[in-house]
Amino acid sequence: MDFDLTPEQREFCANLETFALKELNDGLVERDREGVFAAENWRKCADIGLLGLPVPVEHGGLAADATTMMTALESLGYGCRDNGLIFSLHAHLWAGTSPIVRFGSPGQRERYLPGMCAGDVIAGHAMTEPGSGSDAFAMATTVTRTGGTYVLNGSKVFVSNAPIADVLLVFAVDPAKRGFAGVSAFLVDRDTPGLTVSRPVSKMGLRTSPMGEVHLDGCEVAADALLGPEGAGMAVFNWTMERERSFILASALGTMRRDLERCVDHARTRGQFGRPIGSFQAVSHRIVDMRMRLDAARLLLHRLAWQIDNDRPTKVEAALAKVFVSEAFVQSGLDAVQIHGGYGYTTEYELERDLRDALASRIYSGTSEIQRNLAAHHMGLTTRTTGRRPTGRKN
Ligand SMILES: Cc1cc2nc3c(=O)[nH]c(=O)nc-3n(C[C@H](O)[C@H](O)[C@H](O)COP(=O)(O)OP(=O)(O)OC[C@H]3O[C@@H](n4cnc5c(N)ncnc54)[C@H](O)[C@@H]3O)c2cc1C
Repeated sequence: MDFDLTPEQREFCANLETFALKELNDGLVERDREGVFAAENWRKCADIGLLGLPVPVEHGGLAADATTMMTALESLGYGCRDNGLIFSLHAHLWAGTSPIVRFGSPGQRERYLPGMCAGDVIAGHAMTEPGSGSDAFAMATTVTRTGGTYVLNGSKVFVSNAPIADVLLVFAVDPAKRGFAGVSAFLVDRDTPGLTVSRPVSKMGLRTSPMGEVHLDGCEVAADALLGPEGAGMAVFNWTMERERSFILASALGTMRRDLERCVDHARTRGQFGRPIGSFQAVSHRIVDMRMRLDAARLLLHRLAWQIDNDRPTKVEAALAKVFVSEAFVQSGLDAVQIHGGYGYTTEYELERDLRDALASRIYSGTSEIQRNLAAHHMGLTTRTTGRRPTGRKN
């Protein structure tokens, strides 16, 4: 395995880091406090090509390979302190754009991808429901076919980007076809009659990434809204989540690298008891552990990128990486605050925000517990990854 980046990859990442440092951080403390999404920065990300990273060139994207995307996202995470903006970008890229690249018909690709790359069309992914989170396929949202159209009924919660989304990837089950084969995926435009989105949900971290609830009340969509064949919703969801959990924490490497550098700097310059605090082993070992976790996290993600680029299976590796990197992200966030003492606890130092943002990573895209269950299943230890089969039950 070759760990060297090509000169092109190095240049792309260096430019991205400079761009992110310069363009994406203004007013962040206030935006985080108020929970404001930076729409103008979203456009800047589109202009530099970030929103089209995995999209073929003919649809307006960069068609980047997995290794380039992994390293580019680390650079973005290092330069851009707005983890919420990056999270919205991840939701758009991996849970909205990528499934259209993978499963979309020529018409769907033509219709959505150029706008998604250009920053004109924002995507969200609506799977989770009030009664089904980890047990995702126990969904209650139903779809019924009436002639040439489909009618959707139900509610989705925790939908990232929902308040700003132009299109939502919605999963629903046909009550007449019980079981996984009854689940289908639909691209539902935001202005479709019968679809409403709640006001943004306030949350602990990632506050600049809007989240909302989606309600479907007799929401009728044409047959061409179906993503993939009818009944292929489980395959669409599983592929999408595997891809999302492979990339969604690449930017966390950048955040961890930035916070590590700040800790080294602080430990060398902050004096107590007549010495720099970094000379106390309790402090230096904590920093060494941060570095060790960052290196291990990067190795796991780069191996994953190599596997994706070489068409190797990644079911176990994607789950392992998701658990390890998210846990490392949280622990490093805790360490960074601790090393900065009282200053680390203040909003002004902007470390407490990284910690609040990091905590969500153990939950979204499948919790750490579910990732371990998935890995156990794919290692042949258990027969099932989730509980019930879909029934279209009432919440
Ligand atoms: C910031 C953020 C963004 C999100 N964005 C989206 C989005 O865009 N679209 C979307 O559809 N969803 C989204 N989600 C929802 C997310 O996918 C769910 O929160 C997650 O899957 C967990 O579901 P739940 O919250 O219902 O928790 P539950 O499933 O109720 O789990 C509660 C606890 O029980 C544990 N648990 C449950 N089952 C098991 C088991 N079998 N074995 C061991 N432990 C178990 C869980 O690990 C967890 O600790 C988002 C969540 C967050 C926090």
